[in-house]
Amino acid sequence: MTISLPACSVDFMDTSLSPEEQDIAARITELKQQLGDDLLILGHHYQRDSIVMHADFLGDSFMLSQKAAESTAKYIVFCGVHFMAESADILTTEEQIVILPNMRAGCSMADMATFAEVDVAWKEIIEQSGLSDPINRDNPDSPVEEGQSFLVPVTYMNSSAELKDFVGRHGGIVCTSTNATGVLDWAFERAGKDGAVLFFPDQHLGRNTGTKMGIAAEKMPTWIPNIGSMGEVKGSRIILWHGFCSVHTRFTVEQIEDFRQRYPEGYVVIHPETPIESVQLADASGSTQFIRNYVADLPSGSAVAIGTEINMVARLANEHPDKHIECLDPEICPCSTMYMIHPAYLMDVLERIIDGEKPNQVTVPEEIQQGSLLALNRMLSILK
Ligand code: SF4
Repeated sequence: MTISLPACSVDFMDTSLSPEEQDIAARITELKQQLGDDLLILGHHYQRDSIVMHADFLGDSFMLSQKAAESTAKYIVFCGVHFMAESADILTTEEQIVILPNMRAGCSMADMATFAEVDVAWKEIIEQSGLSDPINRDNPDSPVEEGQSFLVPVTYMNSSAELKDFVGRHGGIVCTSTNATGVLDWAFERAGKDGAVLFFPDQHLGRNTGTKMGIAAEKMPTWIPNIGSMGEVKGSRIILWHGFCSVHTRFTVEQIEDFRQRYPEGYVVIHPETPIESVQLADASGSTQFIRNYVADLPSGSAVAIGTEINMVARLANEHPDKHIECLDPEICPCSTMYMIHPAYLMDVLERIIDGEKPNQVTVPEEIQQGSLLALNRMLSILK
């Protein structure tokens, strides 16, 4: 469920803001009012409070992409990172303008898989595995017939539009941490009993989901570009790209043990971009929305350590003062690129929209729209 936020007003402002930040917040509120229904502001859970307070919807990448797809607003300002704005552009009409307040807000994990690297790997894996490329299937959306075996590409939402297009054209699909299990089920139905999935860019989400589905570790080799597979490709079920998130790989077994020593009755909930050793030791693992629901459902007085980005953890702690909530990593772990969306940048793009500009517009080239849209629409049809 996406959270619908109250319209921003001066009363709703965070009083801990500096006078300068309060001025910016007040100006953003004015600009939002001027733009009215022409404007939709989407905010990811990892954004700071002084951005979230202006968002019409707060959610994870899956839910925000649904909101973008449903929206009729002329301007969609995406307070998140670049790949999210690209997906919003693909899912909206030509007349709608998608804007990223700071064009430098990328994602280090998404950058770990380039089109050139995946294209080379794809050809090598097809050759080594002996599997067929679904690009040649008449209807790649239908389950395969007995005896057919394909390699199906699955890309995490955290990837470039170019890779989403590659996946769409090769009979594959996009996934998020919300629906990774359902997406892999879909992909295996189209790969066949002896087929396989190439999963990129996040090895941890792929491994954690595959393990949850009962796939043995030796059937999930890791693929390192320019080196090749760390394990047997032939007969494997998921070939995992070597990418990772610099925030979620910080959560360790030692941190969980330390928390459990301090709070023996406490709970640990963790995001599945975290390495498997930590995920297996946690009480629960799931998407940002799953984590929000998990914490909300805990009894009052519970202690919980959360393995995800610090802005979201801090917000949960504010929302649940009856619970002890801490970040699993005591060193604190913001996502440095999500943090590049500063309120001053949001104010600036809104001012420029009012002036008739299309500032920081994110446009996905037409030639890669079709495949990307196919892969995203397949994803949107799978809820879990
Ligand atoms: S938290 Fe990790 S995966 Fe998410 S945007 Fe930041 S670097 Fe990318």
